[in-house]
Amino acid sequence: MGRPVVLVTGAARGLGFATSQALVRRGYHVLVADLPNVDKTSAVDQLGGPDVASWLDCDVRSTSQIGEAIAYVERRFRRLDAVVNNAGIVNPSATHLVDDRDWEGLLDIHLTGTLRVSRASFPLLAAARSASIVNVSSVCARRGFPARASYNAAKAAIEALTRTLAVEWGPVGIRVNALAPGFILTENARRLYEEGIADREARESLVPLGRMGRPDEVGEAAAWLSADARYVTGHVLVVDGGYLVDGRTGPDPNVPGAEALQAAARQEDAR
Ligand code: NAP
Repeated sequence: MGRPVVLVTGAARGLGFATSQALVRRGYHVLVADLPNVDKTSAVDQLGGPDVASWLDCDVRSTSQIGEAIAYVERRFRRLDAVVNNAGIVNPSATHLVDDRDWEGLLDIHLTGTLRVSRASFPLLAAARSASIVNVSSVCARRGFPARASYNAAKAAIEALTRTLAVEWGPVGIRVNALAPGFILTENARRLYEEGIADREARESLVPLGRMGRPDEVGEAAAWLSADARYVTGHVLVVDGGYLVDGRTGPDPNVPGAEALQAAARQEDAR
């Protein structure tokens, strides 16, 4: 039978790479689908070499390049079991300054790219009889993050597309889910904090777990949704340390902090 095959877009680095690592651990052959100009060998090597990973030139803005990539998958593997639509960019700008090109450029990658790759993969996924798609959304789909209008809108639309595909393609055994990460410490994010462009402590104070997420924690969740969650479809899995459910409004004498909670737990233990 061979290894099941998964295509991950934007997989050369960041969350796509972490997801690829988690899928290799689950026994998949990962197709690292990324922009043609990216260093092709290092991602494949770091994943464990050509037995468990292969490179695919795949700009998600190009219907023809995606078509060629899928045709190659069909020729070489004769199967495709899963897709992770992860490729993306951020393009912050005050909304009154956003021009049509920037707006359309971001939606083209995130939203239309997700549609293009899903559509091109459909025949192979349907042939697999039990297959899955994971679309990478964000907590930005649900919160009004300023200066991120196109990004927030794209991610909300990806969640809507996810539900639609889950219903349309469920009958042929394709599960379609979304994953919504919160603040994750990728190399890019780390650089922003180190250069003082973003305030790490301020963000961490908004997270009940009190810290940023690690890429491997997101990768594990994406891989679970992709490979293991056999009766889950149309779902959005939020991986954010509790950020979205946080109802804290400021200091409250009735709400103990971490130290007080630890002391209370120690007292309970001593009883
Ligand atoms: P990243 O480190 O920038 O990695 C994104 C990858 O996608 C890069 O390899 C990039 O190539 C590639 N890519 C960009 N445009 C592409 C295109 N047109 N076609 C194919 N590949 C393309 O980003 P990340 O932080 O891992 O984010 C991955 C996904 O998670 C995105 O959808 C993002 O919106 C989402 N997300 C991230 C966070 C977070 O905290 N990091 C939180 C919520 C959601 P280049 O390097 O050449 O640009």
